[in-house]
Amino acid sequence: MRFSGWKVIKEGLTGNRGWSAHWRDAQPKPEYDMVIIGGGGHGLSTAYYLAKNHGMTNIAVLEKGYLGGGNVGRNTTIVRANYFLQGNSEFYSHSLKLWEGLEEDLNYNVMHSQRGLINLFHSDGQRDAFARRGNMMVNQGDDAILLDRDGVRKHLPYLDFEQTRFPIYGGLYHPRGGTARHDAVAWGYARGASDRGVDLVQNCEVTGIDIENGVVKGVQTTRGAIRAKKVGIIVAGRSGQVAAMAGRRLPIESHILQAFVTEGLKPVIDHVISFGMGHFYISQSDKGGLVFGGDLDFYASYAQRGNLPMKEHVMEAGMTLMPMIGKAKVLRSWGGIMDMTPDGSPIIDKMEGIDGLYIDCGWNYGGFKAVPASGWCMAHLMATDRPHEVAAKYRLDRFRTGIGIMDEEGTGSQHNLH
Ligand SMILES: Cc1cc2nc3c(=O)[nH]c(=O)nc-3n(C[C@H](O)[C@H](O)[C@H](O)COP(=O)(O)OP(=O)(O)OC[C@H]3O[C@@H](n4cnc5c(N)ncnc54)[C@H](O)[C@@H]3O)c2cc1C
Repeated sequence: MRFSGWKVIKEGLTGNRGWSAHWRDAQPKPEYDMVIIGGGGHGLSTAYYLAKNHGMTNIAVLEKGYLGGGNVGRNTTIVRANYFLQGNSEFYSHSLKLWEGLEEDLNYNVMHSQRGLINLFHSDGQRDAFARRGNMMVNQGDDAILLDRDGVRKHLPYLDFEQTRFPIYGGLYHPRGGTARHDAVAWGYARGASDRGVDLVQNCEVTGIDIENGVVKGVQTTRGAIRAKKVGIIVAGRSGQVAAMAGRRLPIESHILQAFVTEGLKPVIDHVISFGMGHFYISQSDKGGLVFGGDLDFYASYAQRGNLPMKEHVMEAGMTLMPMIGKAKVLRSWGGIMDMTPDGSPIIDKMEGIDGLYIDCGWNYGGFKAVPASGWCMAHLMATDRPHEVAAKYRLDRFRTGIGIMDEEGTGSQHNLH
């Protein structure tokens, strides 16, 4: 079924009886060429590009809950390509280009909105760092404009420019940055993969990985054993637990990140604003809710809810930046499990010493914008056994050898404590 304006009008006039389910609710078969563990954004996009780019369709995505019930449906939906280091910058640049053609490619409205992202700075030193970052972004072929204080005021007149704790010196403006509707991204990829023959199996938890003589043979699940020639572990916050099923210890700590949404308001914030120094960022959803968040809760956990001190910290930071926010009522808050690597950059690689086992993880708190490129590159790796050129630096062994560490924020070896 193709979506179009005509289809919406026709269905509207004929009682909406012509819509079909977006994807098949598949039952697991005993054997596949490939099994993807995890039906989040990255698992679904990997399955989609395996089918679309490599013609491989004898694939199952095994999801322990429901599709899109993990972080892909819990994030604050910011999409950007404003990275500094080689290794990251070409990857996220590729991802943003995929985002720009995604709705057409998937024939699905993912509500990608390039409303512009402004990263504020509050000191001369921070301005220098953002100027360097902006130059790297432009060299990479992306867009960046360094704004002074008045430039920020033109875009964001409602910020408190008089506050003295964090005086606003300016901002790095990334016009192609923005947001997308997170659930729709999961649903769009699910639909595209299912239409091409991929089995999407929900309520199917992987409980073990079968390995014989260093070669993967399949997985054990709550719905029986499934054989497979290749297995991809794409489970975000659960990466450490699932890799342990293959006897591997990953350089990953799982931490909680919280987010918040207010009641629906009339349009007031038409950019994404990042106030890094105060640990606060915000945008407004198309429904009108102010969507905002801050920093990690700073302890390792598999809970999907956070604690009150971080809520207080985020609210304080929001009030410091834009006191008008104090009038809005917070409707909901929630948490997700972040797969934090020591250098803050991800991993897309083969699992050393186990033929046929692949890992895609370490997305920290920025993996939503990576969904298209991660799927594209993981599919390339699983299909060809060679890393894709824009993900070639996402190697697991950098944490063993110390070579190729990509510490984007310069925060040292414990990114989770930055
Ligand atoms: C509050 C918050 C705000 C965020 N904001 C942003 C943002 O603005 N921009 C951005 O780019 N990123 C953001 N992120 C990060 C982003 O959401 C994640 O990095 C990304 O979604 C992780 O990849 P995923 O979608 O594949 O993960 P998930 O959706 O978590 O998918 C992993 C799936 O694996 C499944 N699974 C786990 N174990 C098993 C098993 N044993 N068997 C079968 N299935 C299993 C899980 O149920 C889950 O569905 C944010 C995250 C949070 C929590």
